[in-house]
Amino acid sequence: MTNPLLVQWDTAFEIAPFDRISDADFAPALDQALMDHAAQIDDIAGNTAPATFANVIEALETPCQALEQVLSVFFTVAGADSNPARESLQREFSPKLAAHFSAITANKALYARVKAVWDQRDTLDLTTEQQRVLMLTHRGFVRGGAALEGDADTRMQEIKGRLAVLGTNFTQNLLADEREWMMELAEADLEGLPDFVIDATRAAGEEKGAKGPVVTLSRSVITSFLQFSARRDLRQKAFEAWAARGANGGETDNRAIAAETLALRAERAALLGYDSFADYKLETEMAKTPAAVRDLLMDVWKPAKARADADAEILTAMMREDGINGALEPWDWRYYAEKRRKAEHDLDEAELKPYLQLDRMIEASFACAKRLFGLEFTALEVPLYHEDCRAWEVTRNGAHLAVFIGDYFARGSKRSGAWCSAMRAQAKRPANQTPVVINVCNFAKGDPALLSWDDARTLFHEFGHALHQMLSDVSYESISGTSVARDFVELPSQLYEHWLEVPEVLSAFATHADTGEAMPPELLKKVLGASSFDMGFQTVEYVASALVDLAFHEGAPPRDVMATQAEVLAAIGMPSAITMRHATPQFAHVFSGDGYASGYYSYMWSEVMDADAFAAFEEAGGAFDPERAQALETHILSTGGSRDPAELYTAFRGRLPGVEALLKGRGLAAE
Ligand SMILES: [Zn+2]
Repeated sequence: MTNPLLVQWDTAFEIAPFDRISDADFAPALDQALMDHAAQIDDIAGNTAPATFANVIEALETPCQALEQVLSVFFTVAGADSNPARESLQREFSPKLAAHFSAITANKALYARVKAVWDQRDTLDLTTEQQRVLMLTHRGFVRGGAALEGDADTRMQEIKGRLAVLGTNFTQNLLADEREWMMELAEADLEGLPDFVIDATRAAGEEKGAKGPVVTLSRSVITSFLQFSARRDLRQKAFEAWAARGANGGETDNRAIAAETLALRAERAALLGYDSFADYKLETEMAKTPAAVRDLLMDVWKPAKARADADAEILTAMMREDGINGALEPWDWRYYAEKRRKAEHDLDEAELKPYLQLDRMIEASFACAKRLFGLEFTALEVPLYHEDCRAWEVTRNGAHLAVFIGDYFARGSKRSGAWCSAMRAQAKRPANQTPVVINVCNFAKGDPALLSWDDARTLFHEFGHALHQMLSDVSYESISGTSVARDFVELPSQLYEHWLEVPEVLSAFATHADTGEAMPPELLKKVLGASSFDMGFQTVEYVASALVDLAFHEGAPPRDVMATQAEVLAAIGMPSAITMRHATPQFAHVFSGDGYASGYYSYMWSEVMDADAFAAFEEAGGAFDPERAQALETHILSTGGSRDPAELYTAFRGRLPGVEALLKGRGLAAE
């Protein structure tokens, strides 16, 4: 029998025929697909005709159909509906795929063909998009080390191998320290804690095999304990254990690993001809240079620190009322901030939830897309991988544009979090392909299913990513949809969250599950007020981490990472009652791999842009201003990575983003 992953799909819109695919099909299909793709690469590398854009770059852009089909189906079900067979396949596939793709980057004959096209770039009469694809392809090979020869090449391979080991060790040490520690609580220690915290400590106790409730170092357990426990001694003990993760001495200590990682990254950047790892890393980002990142972070730092200092005085006064003298400490902040929050903006989630029905929020996200971009959504009956999945055909003026799939409910077989992926990305060459896009979330089931405010934001966020895929209108798949710089990719998603907060959207779609009444304006005001609460603290702990990350990757690598961390914090005047969101021995974003190394700033960068971009609508005719919507589609949502992100943003906004709208949104703007 033919393997359904290896044949042309004859289904509606060529959606994967999930009802015909079984787990036994994956492994043989992947082996065959990797062979097909390797043969395709060999043909391109071994072609004896003179290298041209068509026979090298466009040939590399031609999708290997078998490989795309296997990977899109496999990774969809492995993330959203796993089982032991799929987990074991994933362990088997990861090293195979890593070896396959690194062999392509290391293929010297292929690189020679790419370089030959690159060298003739000025005489090829390429479109802007083709020039961009050529530049990105060439740069990808060079950054991967393909241009290195002899000893430099050997050393690069050694460094890559060692960095992979260090990244894994860093993660495992952190997990070991987190697993190791717990603090047993007596029944009296639970006094005053809300039920959900008590439940969490009891569940943690059961999981650890303890006699009663415990506090563990899992982020959700410890932060809620620090927020609600009136026992200052216990908060201090728990906080100190949390802050010591990865720095307890012995085998699980991460400090030397961090130092070695930074030294190897600096050496790697030097081998490739960059001044520092930060210069290497930021070259491909919208920010481009360490100086641009630092400027942005410092523009946010100053008002955030001023707000945090003022808040610290208020919290200290509250602490005095409890009869405690001495300084406000990091284990006090969350506790007094929670007391203040309750006094100033008491928002009852239970009161809010009935207004946020999942189906109505899906309708709201579609209705905004219709008003902004003219999209229509029609339910589709197609076999998918789980009965909870739903599909819609997306059209505009009657023409097919995309298929959108929503898989909203939590279940044991789904990994946590929420994400958007393209099961098929948009492209026009070598053949036209329309996108199939999926949003996966972890909302609780119910009748009707009700969302929290955070859930509703997540729904809009992921749908913003989906729009970036569905409205994509480029020629080549490698730059389609969300294939953009890391510090640009969250712009469409975070921007779309703003439409959830538009009063007319909520009054139309946030209707009470029992009474059908619209959400009262006072409740909406409370929700919005609560979302900018304690932003001084949150901004300070985040920006401090981002500045330390940046300092680590500029110039000569530090010998003593903790000394460098202390110097950076002293130089910016870090408030004594706030610590870094992720101190160095726990900074997995930066040390578990290099994805966010000198890139931790990018969350803030995106937030600056989304606030600034939404302000463009407000400055024009409002949230649904048609000209702004058209500009957003033309310059950002349809363009993928076809141009430099700074150019795209400037085309949309008329200038680069400024921090004012973010400061206003976070309640940090000068009054
Ligand atoms: Zn996102």
